[in-house]
Amino acid sequence: MLPTVALIGRRNVGKSTLFNRLIRKQKALTHDRPGVTRDRLYAEVPHGEPPFALVDTGGLVLDESDGVEADVFEQAREAMEGAQLILFVVDGRQGVSTIDEQLAAFLRQTDKPVRLVINKVDGAELEDTLSAEFYALGFPLSAVSAAHGYGTLTLQEEIEETL
Ligand code: GDP
Ligand code: MG
Repeated sequence: MLPTVALIGRRNVGKSTLFNRLIRKQKALTHDRPGVTRDRLYAEVPHGEPPFALVDTGGLVLDESDGVEADVFEQAREAMEGAQLILFVVDGRQGVSTIDEQLAAFLRQTDKPVRLVINKVDGAELEDTLSAEFYALGFPLSAVSAAHGYGTLTLQEEIEETL
């Protein structure tokens, strides 16, 4: 069994885009439309040193208005069980939302290593504008652009160092 890294976070922060970037394939379904049904996905990153497995979450959202937040927590719980490292993904352009705060509180209770991944930082210059709110969540953090690849190689090294 490969060490497993779980991507956790609310919808539309870019988990599936990051999953695709790290596995370098287009396997996870990414979608602009909120509320679309998406399943948890698993892929191996054989070029990792060490090789590792990645679990994407964010599926099974049946309705925009119904049960969405509960779903995020349920999936987080499930994904965490089998994971050696949790990547807590947030949207760097939106700042810390209420769900992010709640997820952070939830993730502080685990003994497993958690890394905050601030996504949608589409260029190095944006890294300086990251708000103190992110640092205040209290996790080691990485700034990336899953869409453009900025920071994702560094993130992969940080993942590998933890495993
Ligand atoms: P998920 O719901 O967390 O899996 O998020 P998705 O990966 O489906 O992405 C949600 C939206 O954010 C899509 O429109 C993506 O194209 C967009 N997105 C993802 N990563 C980035 C990024 O690094 N920069 C920007 N600007 N948009 C991104
Ligand atoms: Mg997704």
